[in-house]
Amino acid sequence: MAITRCHDCNATLKADELRCYTCGTAVEGRQKSKFGAGFATLVTILFFASGLLTVASLFVEATPSFTKCLMVTVVLLVVRTSAGEMDGSKT
Ligand SMILES: [Zn+2]
Repeated sequence: MAITRCHDCNATLKADELRCYTCGTAVEGRQKSKFGAGFATLVTILFFASGLLTVASLFVEATPSFTKCLMVTVVLLVVRTSAGEMDGSKT
């Protein structure tokens, strides 16, 4: 088994580590980055759509209830945050 090193600080990484223990950089090749990026984009779009719908639900009758919209928005926010953490290469 090849030893993986962090591309950022060159620390040795354990086989099961998804990110560098020393500097926190996400380990390349340890995740389906293409899927992750597409997923994050999708969640972001859904999040903003849901956020708009939440605001709209306050004023427009023909939308789902504000509580439902808010719940969906919060869930998407959590998913978006965790998806963003998985894709730590951007920060
Ligand atoms: Zn590192």
